[in-house]
Amino acid sequence: MSNDSKADKLPTQAETVIIGGGCIGCNTAYHLTKLGKTDVVVLEQGQLTSGTTWHAAGLIVAGLLKSESECEIYTHGRDLYANLEKETGLSTGFTDIGYLQVAVNEERVHELRRVAPFMRRHGINMHEISTKEAQEMFPIGDLSNVLSAFYIPEDGRANPVDVTMSLAKGARMGGAQIFEGITVTEILVKNGTATGVKLSTGETIIANNVVICGGMWSRQLGATAGINLPLQAAEHYYLITEEIKGLPKNMPVLEDPSTHTYYREEVGGMMLGLFEPVAAVWNIEHIPETFSFGEIEPDWERMMPHLEKAYTRVPSIIDYGVRKFFCGPESFTPDLAPLVGETPELRNCFVAAGMNSLGILNGAGIGNVLAHWIVSGLPPVDVTSINVNRFSKCENTRAFRRDRTPELLGREFGQHYHNDSPRTARDVKRSVLHDRLKSAGAFFSEAHGWEATDWFAPIPEQAKIEKYSWFRQNWFEWHAEEHKAAREDVILMDLSLMSKFIVQGPDACALLSRLSCNDVDVEPGRIVYTPWVNEAGGFEADVTVTRLEQEKFLVICGENSHGHTEMRMRRHIEEGECVTILDTTSATTQINIHGPKARELMRKVTFADMSDEAFPFMAAQEIDIDYSVLLAIRITFVGELGWELHVPCNHAVQVYDRLVEAGKEFGLRHAGIQTLSSLRLEKAYRDFGIDIDNTDNPIEAGVEFGVRLDKEDGFIGRDALAAIKDKGIPCNRMLQFLIEDPEPLLYGNELIYLNGEQVGHLQVGAYGHTLGGAVGIGFATTPEPLSEAIIEAGNWEIEIADVKFKATASLQPLFDPKMERARC
Ligand SMILES: Cc1cc2nc3c(=O)[nH]c(=O)nc-3n(C[C@H](O)[C@H](O)[C@H](O)COP(=O)(O)OP(=O)(O)OC[C@H]3O[C@@H](n4cnc5c(N)ncnc54)[C@H](O)[C@@H]3O)c2cc1C
Repeated sequence: MSNDSKADKLPTQAETVIIGGGCIGCNTAYHLTKLGKTDVVVLEQGQLTSGTTWHAAGLIVAGLLKSESECEIYTHGRDLYANLEKETGLSTGFTDIGYLQVAVNEERVHELRRVAPFMRRHGINMHEISTKEAQEMFPIGDLSNVLSAFYIPEDGRANPVDVTMSLAKGARMGGAQIFEGITVTEILVKNGTATGVKLSTGETIIANNVVICGGMWSRQLGATAGINLPLQAAEHYYLITEEIKGLPKNMPVLEDPSTHTYYREEVGGMMLGLFEPVAAVWNIEHIPETFSFGEIEPDWERMMPHLEKAYTRVPSIIDYGVRKFFCGPESFTPDLAPLVGETPELRNCFVAAGMNSLGILNGAGIGNVLAHWIVSGLPPVDVTSINVNRFSKCENTRAFRRDRTPELLGREFGQHYHNDSPRTARDVKRSVLHDRLKSAGAFFSEAHGWEATDWFAPIPEQAKIEKYSWFRQNWFEWHAEEHKAAREDVILMDLSLMSKFIVQGPDACALLSRLSCNDVDVEPGRIVYTPWVNEAGGFEADVTVTRLEQEKFLVICGENSHGHTEMRMRRHIEEGECVTILDTTSATTQINIHGPKARELMRKVTFADMSDEAFPFMAAQEIDIDYSVLLAIRITFVGELGWELHVPCNHAVQVYDRLVEAGKEFGLRHAGIQTLSSLRLEKAYRDFGIDIDNTDNPIEAGVEFGVRLDKEDGFIGRDALAAIKDKGIPCNRMLQFLIEDPEPLLYGNELIYLNGEQVGHLQVGAYGHTLGGAVGIGFATTPEPLSEAIIEAGNWEIEIADVKFKATASLQPLFDPKMERARC
């Protein structure tokens, strides 16, 4: 055992124990000490960096970043690595040689033009340069087929071992202790809380916080404590040539998605790294603990076609010998985002793992986020897309990891179309109506294992995407018809993927009242929309709560926040309270019927009184449809009259058949989630995890109607929201935007301009077929309070791929602002 210089003896207790001495573990320790936490112990089974970190290529390049948090996480690391030597005396090897990304087709150029302004707004100076300039920067490459290039001068490379050693020194200087040659065999647990770790020597360390930074070993270590960490190691390659005489040392890193390759200089030769479209999984069952400074025997035969393609970008490489063809394992997650945060299974057990080949460049940002999360209980950035609690167990099965992982490396370099789903590990969770919907022409997209109906083709054979594009795709007109049917006739949507929980017991109301900003202590049969916020007033969820009986509630949220919503409820049951939470998602099929003719259709299929008097808006009742008894909830996320029908799965096919048959005379159309999105954005309805997150609050987000500050007994976050409210009209407000030109499309991240000044970006966009143009919602931030008068008088523009389009901005929904259609 080699010990930290300051300590000769392993402590028996510590405030925080970090498992793993790679880039992530050392970053987390470093950042904890920066927050004044000195009682930090890092345990490494081998030596520092001996897992994956030692062999990383050390690219510190932004790539394509599509969220504020990604930008913040990235720039934090780049800036830290550039300056850490001043603090620790140890260089990280960071040099800002720049980063060049080349595009060989119009679609890629368009994507980069869409994203570059967003990245610039968030501190990453990506700009388009001419191919001539690119060729001069990278003289050894053949850029003859390149249409355009994008350059970030501040990016570059670092030495991953030096980065980690410098961080380790910084952490030690801040009081942390680091021990090598110590294996954690078990996470100690008491009453659902991590209390420490057990070591291979039999010793234990008692700790307030246990942090898993065990890289590709994290999954199996987590499993010993029942923690679901879906990550899987895959082979990852680079090749280094012999010295190439005259190769400039300061050439930028070049990334070429068309050949799935990156290139940079390495000790006088050329390093060529690969993100091949079909990769190889490494060790599905178990990662050997003894794999220290390990390498994998390269599979030349599999990789040769990829290398040949890579050589076309830098053809002269072929004249030089190969100094090293390296293959090492790296862990990938099902959606290519890391696993970060407190585990839902264990309190005080945190994780940062599954770095998807970006662990050096994102390590510091993630270490910083996690350190703040551990210390304050709240993450400092939007974590909805990286939160460890977003996955279900099926995504961690051997079969899922085996099937999904090979696709992931290639996706890292692929185009990032808004509607592009993974091709592998499909048909995992299917609605019981799946085959019926397929026969009706459904095209399915994937969401955490669910097959979601995206849109419908007129005949099932046409249900495919002819060509992915940033412009109108082949299904656009069919989707327009679905949208029109919702506004003029009636649509049927299968939303079985929505997450549903029955919360029951004598204290169910108390629990939900504590969590909810709105008043959920209503009469049975009433539905309440409510945000849930944290102590700082930031969103934790937005849900509907339906009171079914005095002590029985139905909580519904989006599938993307399933784990988080459940965790939030379970964590807030207080000592002595009697509440049960039952996840009924897979027991219920959700069929939504919406549109002006929804009532007429419902009257055809049920004996229940569906009139507005007997069944008002925001009411829930048990009704019958033929032989089935089901829960009908009168609510809307599309701005139309209608009902969510929550049907027991064994009745769903019968109910569906009846609705489809009866719907013929009313022009019933099937509709998918593309139409859900376009309808809800015309109504400017918010969606947690897509356009609002934990860094936003209901007042600025414009859902104050769901907040009852005067609620008896208050709620979690009440005082924070009251303080925000007391400040008066916010300077930061979520607005709805409609592009006046009917041609362009919006997807989110487009910049917002007010009177020529950049004031924000869109969170999400879709095509508003009724409004006649693309619609989106996003936060605008101004120095002055953003009053209705300023909004109305303002000259608003939205920038799409370098072109500014005139837009209408509104605080109220541009479609049916008085809510007349849903309440009729
Ligand atoms: C070929 C290749 C090239 C790459 N290039 C880049 C790049 O250019 N830029 C970039 O950002 N990223 C790159 N990466 C990815 C990067 O290397 C990883 O994301 C990063 O090193 C992950 O760091 P980590 O700390 O999570 O994992 P690791 O470095 O593996 O650290 C985890 C540590 O935990 C220890 N451990 C595990 N279990 C236990 C236990 N039970 N008890 C005690 N200790 C334990 C392990 O021994 C290990 O040292 C590359 C990866 C590969 C394979």
